[in-house]
Amino acid sequence: MTGWLQALLFPPRCRLCGAATAADPALCQACLDDLPWLESGCGRCARPLPAGGDTRWCGACLKRPPAFDAATAVLHYQSPADYLIQRLKFSGELAVAPVLARLLAGKIATRASALPDLLIPVPLHRARLHERGFNQATELARHLGRRLSVPVDHRLCRRNRHTQPQSLTPLRLRRRNLRGAFSLSGELPAAHVAIVDDVMTTGHTADELARVLRRAGAARVEVWVIARSGH
Ligand SMILES: [Zn+2]
Ligand SMILES: [Zn+2]
Repeated sequence: MTGWLQALLFPPRCRLCGAATAADPALCQACLDDLPWLESGCGRCARPLPAGGDTRWCGACLKRPPAFDAATAVLHYQSPADYLIQRLKFSGELAVAPVLARLLAGKIATRASALPDLLIPVPLHRARLHERGFNQATELARHLGRRLSVPVDHRLCRRNRHTQPQSLTPLRLRRRNLRGAFSLSGELPAAHVAIVDDVMTTGHTADELARVLRRAGAARVEVWVIARSGH
């Protein structure tokens, strides 16, 4: 079926409100306007900060800077961003991935600084991957990579342990819960890399993975996430 005929018979529906929309990604303009856009965040970890620029650091980064150099997030982890991410992650609605990736790619495409040489999705442990059937971070990275013309390597980095979800781990144990969680299966082929994930909450996961990438020789490590929670 040709594209226009398909569009006529099955017009894309907004992933949030169900309205017919010509827009790709399939979010209508009204829903796009209502998204919780993250306008101003910490220059290091993207934690939401009051308006006034992305150059200042939050208190946590001033006290203890993370192993990554900079983070980019496009949305607050609030409704309906959380709903879209959960649909992707837990309902296996893979069609949500390009919608979210396009939002983040749009933000990244406007920046002046150089893009990374490689995108590395945060890996799932193989037991979790088997259970879910896909890694949402890999799905997002693939779409981001295609849009921004940056290669993706989803095999290089491994998750060694089936760690307890961070959300179920007491705050003070979260860092310890991740120690030794990641390793690389080969040489890091790039000096400037970006870790890709769906959400960043405490930042400990990205921090631990960034530490591993630095040890492997990365000169600059970024973190790209769709949504950032304020905690
Ligand atoms: Zn809508
Ligand atoms: Zn910060």
